[in-house]
Amino acid sequence: MKKKVYFGTNLKMYKGNGETVNYLAELSRLANQIESPFDVELFVIPSYTSLKDAVNVIEQDNKPLVIRIGAQNMNSHDNGQFTGDISPLMLKELGVKLVMIGHSERRHVFRETDSEENQKVLSALKHGFTTLLCIGETLEQKNYGISDEVLRTQLKIGLHNVEKQQLSHLWIAYEPVWAIGVNGIPASSQYANEKHQVIKQCLFELFGEDSSKIPTLYGGSVNPDNANDLILQPNIDGLFTGRSAWQADNFVRLISQALRAKQEAV
Ligand code: PEP
Repeated sequence: MKKKVYFGTNLKMYKGNGETVNYLAELSRLANQIESPFDVELFVIPSYTSLKDAVNVIEQDNKPLVIRIGAQNMNSHDNGQFTGDISPLMLKELGVKLVMIGHSERRHVFRETDSEENQKVLSALKHGFTTLLCIGETLEQKNYGISDEVLRTQLKIGLHNVEKQQLSHLWIAYEPVWAIGVNGIPASSQYANEKHQVIKQCLFELFGEDSSKIPTLYGGSVNPDNANDLILQPNIDGLFTGRSAWQADNFVRLISQALRAKQEAV
């Protein structure tokens, strides 16, 4: 079986519907020109208001490399008195295949807790979504030397009661909070690899051999200068990119060069 390499982006609150549709059309056209011995999994997570058209543009595109469309968040309940929120059933109705849970901005701006993320993870998996759980330590936690404990806590609570047969739908993104966004300092590839190892070890403790089904992606100021080193790390299965991916041609260039580096290293 070909090794899968994951590349994805979260568009946060930056692109409206029209921009998202144009971006996806160009991304799909360019990404489908990539030649690589690896099996590439490409995903894009637009804002809620773009999801319907995003799904449609990809479905109509009918290209071999299908971009998976994800939602940035969801409520854990199917329906109810949750004004302003979006339910898993609403996402399913649109043909959304992936849901991101616990992005650092959800945790730190919107104060979501590990147990809330757990409720969302369980609901997303129950509804058959590919579920991307984001975890990562803050700078303060890193400075206290408790990064490993934080990651293990986020995994153990966030994945509480997840069953082994659901693991083929589970992805993890390691995104250190201090590495994300305009003020972020990218993690060194060595540091990122060490933390991915901690994550994989914890997943093994939780799920045994079946944990090898769970890809672990790195995110946080991934850019053309560090992408190759990051993707070459043995514990990193993919790159989750923000700013460097928001122009389709730049994103495809980053993906192509990372895949080339990986191919040369085999
Ligand atoms: C993110 O917000 O998840 C992210 C990885 O952003 P950036 O690459 O811009 O740091």
